Amino acid sequence: MQEKLIDGKAIAEQIKKEIAAETAAIIDAGKRAPHLAAVLVGNDPASETYVASKEKACRQVGITSSTYRLPEKTSEKELLNIINFLNKDEEIDGFIVQLPLPAHLNADSIIEHINPHKDVDGFHPVNTGRMMAGLPSYLPATPFGIIELLHRSGIQTAGKHVVVIGRSNIVGTPVSVLLSRKSPKGNATVTLCHSQTVNLPELTKQADILIAAIGVPSFVKADMVKHGAVVIDVGIHRITDDKAEKGYVIKGDVDFDEVVKVASRITPVPGGVGPLTIVSLLSNTLAANQKKIYQ
Ligand code: NAD
Repeated sequence: MQEKLIDGKAIAEQIKKEIAAETAAIIDAGKRAPHLAAVLVGNDPASETYVASKEKACRQVGITSSTYRLPEKTSEKELLNIINFLNKDEEIDGFIVQLPLPAHLNADSIIEHINPHKDVDGFHPVNTGRMMAGLPSYLPATPFGIIELLHRSGIQTAGKHVVVIGRSNIVGTPVSVLLSRKSPKGNATVTLCHSQTVNLPELTKQADILIAAIGVPSFVKADMVKHGAVVIDVGIHRITDDKAEKGYVIKGDVDFDEVVKVASRITPVPGGVGPLTIVSLLSNTLAANQKKIYQ
């Protein structure tokens, strides 16, 4: 079984080493370190965990990180004041506004206020539009991570049939666009499935590469997967389990124990796509510092 696993943790560590080397070279040249900021509104536990992991990853590679923690009741005007400040601050290369935001704040309208040159999450319509057009842009972290995971695991995408389940703006839709692009890490034929798809298993069984980004624990069963397919599980769910040391276990959108028997390669959860997501954010921050996307 071990040989089937796509080790996201190891790949993420390798990319971190590359980022750390590039960051060290910048500092050695007498320039300031790349700087990533995050804005966190409220106390969503998953967001707290993500921001803490981001801070730790930044420390590991020498990227400066700062976090702006705002109370749950922050008004749109107050949040926009912080965004305007970050847009202008020349010491900060890129920043993210951690989602989800409290219900009284409209995420789409908030994101539109981020300077696209600093939008290292790649969520601003200018960046998603540029991605669609095949122009240089910050790629959203999870799709960027999936592409890198496939590439660094030696999994060819050109000419392959990729089936993506889920059409969210942060995972399913952008990963479909990236994999179908005319590019060495794309060139796949992509089918994008969603909640209105009819006969889903018929489509998933045609996949050479199946990407599950549904948000339903253990949704993908073995009888939905072609023998020898590559399976990428994006889902993350904390499932209560009294027998587990922490009182819970982390599961994905794929029924791992069953699907591993038919897949040729598969990402575990945890330790698959997750570690690549934060690393992609670091890559985007470095690119922002080096003005690799926008001059
Ligand atoms: P989302 O809820 O925004 O989107 C889910 C998509 O699945 C929707 O497009 C919907 O149409 C589709 N869907 C739902 N039920 C379906 C069904 N029965 N049949 C077919 N399609 C169906 O979710 P998201 O933000 O894209 O996240 C998906 C999962 O990935 C979640 O578990 C989330 O926690 C996880 N996630 C992980 C990472 C990571 O770093 N690993 C990053 C982002 C999201």
